[in-house]
Amino acid sequence: VDIEPLDLNTLISDAFKLARSTIPENIDRHLEICDEPLRVNADITQLQQVLINLSNNARDALDGTDHPKIEWSVQKYQASDSFKKEHPEAETGEFARISVKDNGCGIKSVHLNAIFDPFFTTKETGKGTGLGLAMVFGSIERHGGILEVESQPGEGTAFHIYLPLVEAPI
Ligand code: ADP
Ligand code: MG
Repeated sequence: VDIEPLDLNTLISDAFKLARSTIPENIDRHLEICDEPLRVNADITQLQQVLINLSNNARDALDGTDHPKIEWSVQKYQASDSFKKEHPEAETGEFARISVKDNGCGIKSVHLNAIFDPFFTTKETGKGTGLGLAMVFGSIERHGGILEVESQPGEGTAFHIYLPLVEAPI
């Protein structure tokens, strides 16, 4: 990994532009960035790949959905006490929170534990390798980040990535 300090607003905006070409026109897409710089230590290429993977999964989940929509956002996140209790591995209290959200088919609760396993896929042969989320998981772990998924079958899915903020040099 090639980790360096960077501003997430810029990275997300670039990745959003890259992802555009892989998302069909009929899918509504939104990007919400933060009004202040969000400095994190990250590998640009890996993080872009993470976002493209999440976005491709969202696109696939939207097949056959009415008013399909993908929302990307990045915001500052102040860890609550319950968040810290749930994630003792989190070093600091201040995070950037990146979310990729869709209103697609959702994930069955019985599958929620398996989706990060290499080769787990619910897609037809040839359409999915089952490696996307395994890569996402490993990559976020190497960044010292936290990955969460929220999903409601029939309603949609949101993946949240928390990356520790770093101080700007004086
Ligand atoms: P693949 O996309 O090749 O199937 P992934 O590791 O990217 O492999 O995803 C694993 C599985 O997780 C998918 O097959 C799908 O069942 C489920 N999944 C991932 N993202 C979403 C999503 N946004 N909405 C619904 N299901 C999802
Ligand atoms: Mg995938």
